[in-house]
Amino acid sequence: MQPDSSNKAVVDPFGTSSVSDYERLSREFGIEPFKSILTKVQDPSLYMRRGLIFGHRDFDNIVRAMNCHSEFAVLSGIKPTGDFHLGTLMTAKEIIYFQQHGAQTFYCIADIEAYEDNRIPFEKSGRIAIDNLADMLALGLDPEKAYIYRQSRESRVKDLALVLGRPITLATMKAIYGERRIGLYLSALIQAGDILLPQLREFGGPKPTVVPVGVDQDPHLRFTRDVAQKFQKKYGFTPPCSTYHKLMKGSDGSPKMSKRQMNYFTLHDKTRTIADRISNAFTGGRATVREQRELGGVPEVCPIYEMCLFHFVEDDEAMTEIYLNCRAGELLCGEHKMQTTDLVLKFIEKHRCKRANLIDKAKEVLKRDDEKK
Ligand code: SF4
Repeated sequence: MQPDSSNKAVVDPFGTSSVSDYERLSREFGIEPFKSILTKVQDPSLYMRRGLIFGHRDFDNIVRAMNCHSEFAVLSGIKPTGDFHLGTLMTAKEIIYFQQHGAQTFYCIADIEAYEDNRIPFEKSGRIAIDNLADMLALGLDPEKAYIYRQSRESRVKDLALVLGRPITLATMKAIYGERRIGLYLSALIQAGDILLPQLREFGGPKPTVVPVGVDQDPHLRFTRDVAQKFQKKYGFTPPCSTYHKLMKGSDGSPKMSKRQMNYFTLHDKTRTIADRISNAFTGGRATVREQRELGGVPEVCPIYEMCLFHFVEDDEAMTEIYLNCRAGELLCGEHKMQTTDLVLKFIEKHRCKRANLIDKAKEVLKRDDEKK
């Protein structure tokens, strides 16, 4: 979906979202700018430093907990609909960042949402979940210090959803999510259960909990914060905090990666497919080499630049150099695509080697967490 003629953001957790102006979106939905809090974070992540996390709700509570080494939690997860791609990789890295900075960690496999939203049978999503979890472990999630679960197997989440649903009217659901199937409203209630799970007595009771997500998931956060307040007396819930990252463009330059448009690659695509997607990607380059040398490129609109910025160039100075060289016309798109392909394939090869040894571990962790319930 393209932004409408007024350039208004489209934010839909169950569909396609598109945002061209993050500041305007923040103003519209009351999201706080992340830059105002950045200096208080002692060891900011790459996404925080680079402004890719642009907004938050109540993240001050998490900063305080991190800086004072007091208790806090992180919860996020994955909808098991397919292989890890560059979008899911972002949330994964954020969860791992918070785990490494002392958060009690909850990793949710949203198989009820995959069933309701994408019609994926539980048997199939169970197989995908093993693959997704193996990716998470290869990226650095420590399963011994995380609570990992599938929504469909976690009765506390489902029980919580049941309780939380009591005061919610259809009008509220329509106002937040629009006219939807009942299954999707149910799935939103389950998500509220996920987000509030870390605050149940069994997990140590109320505590600041951060949910790092793409901004397309904000409706779930607004809904859950509202519900948390309604049940404050009963459970003592603290409204969940959140951070919002920008959405990556598709390789064709469209506002979001989409399966239908085949404008992205996964960590498990064939090497040839990945190289082709990069080689055929849209860029912010000019029509001719001569023009590009004279006028420079436009990294702000370029998916190749984004790939480097979000994932494949860790060093901030190297990233600045790419930006300046592109703007000055000293870096050409063909050359930059080749460099990026090299970086991506090196990362993927290393990741796949690690992951191959972690499939059995992923099976064991999911089985272990099933047995606990
Ligand atoms: S030189 Fe690189 S960053 Fe600049 S427009 Fe071309 S591909 Fe994009």
